[in-house]
Amino acid sequence: MALAQAQGMRLPLVQARRVLVHVLSEGRDDLDLPGQPLSRATRAWLGSHLRHDRLAVEERVRDDGDGSVRYLLRSPDGALHEAVRIPLHKAGAFSVCLSSQVGCAMGCAFCATGRLGLRRHLEAWEMVAAWRLVRDEVVAQGLGRVTGAVFMGQGEPFHNYDAVIRAADQLGHPCGGRIGGRAITISTVGLVPQIRRYTAEGHRFRLIVSLTSARAERRAALLPVAGKWSLEELAQALRAHHEATRQRVTIAMVVLGGVNTGDDEVQALRALLGDLPVRINLVDVNAAEATPDGFRRATDAERRAFMDGLAGLGQPVVRRYSVGQEQQAACGMLAATRAPALVAEAPEV
Ligand code: SF4
Repeated sequence: MALAQAQGMRLPLVQARRVLVHVLSEGRDDLDLPGQPLSRATRAWLGSHLRHDRLAVEERVRDDGDGSVRYLLRSPDGALHEAVRIPLHKAGAFSVCLSSQVGCAMGCAFCATGRLGLRRHLEAWEMVAAWRLVRDEVVAQGLGRVTGAVFMGQGEPFHNYDAVIRAADQLGHPCGGRIGGRAITISTVGLVPQIRRYTAEGHRFRLIVSLTSARAERRAALLPVAGKWSLEELAQALRAHHEATRQRVTIAMVVLGGVNTGDDEVQALRALLGDLPVRINLVDVNAAEATPDGFRRATDAERRAFMDGLAGLGQPVVRRYSVGQEQQAACGMLAATRAPALVAEAPEV
């Protein structure tokens, strides 16, 4: 049973919390709460407000290189989407990378998911159910604990803002997924109005903004949606977020060999960010043979030179590893290889 519409419950708060603990924290598929049983009326009400649907696991792909496990999941309407179990540095600790949409409307030039177009948004219950499914397997297999969630799978989370925030709230709730707020990360390709809304609403989750280029023309070519807002508007939104949270904004740069690793990119970043405190995450693009338009990973020499240049900005720079590279299953690849089925079976929006 997947918990849905928790915030729409008209149950007394204590009852709602008991149900949330039972279903999400304890991973139970029934309403047989320990202690005082629920009344018949409450069970009936819950029966019409909780989704009893489950996600089916179509495929599990393990990457022996990094230990990640990619799940291809099927929703009751046939839509395929993914989640990835990611081992963290601490032994026995895992995070789950969650999709927010079936396909994606953003059309990033280097991304397999972008080729699919948007089929539909995922509902909050589907994201929570994906997390719970992975968490329950980790617990059942005695592997350890799931201590995080990252909304960085298929789709643009801020294009499905309300459902993503609702899912993150349930995962971070002490009666729900019990994940610490800073262990929940939401990534965006840079939708400026949603970044401003997110800041105004004061969420405690970690925000990552995919910049990938600080040069306007190059960024618009790589991330077509970037053409909607200028880089200056994006930088202003990030500055406002920093001023509201007093935290460094994390900037992600998808590193594309021969494209965005030169000194021109470093200088553009310097001009754009000024004294805004950021953390720069460098993420390798997927293997060349798996990307549209033939983008390739940077060579070691290119990456080293780029990192040396970025060091001059005086901001922390971290190289992040994209999980699932060995199986060519990183970022949307598993669903992308099943794209014909996905397109045929998912309903139009
Ligand atoms: S990189 Fe992310 S936002 Fe861009 S097309 Fe792929 S899934 Fe969508």
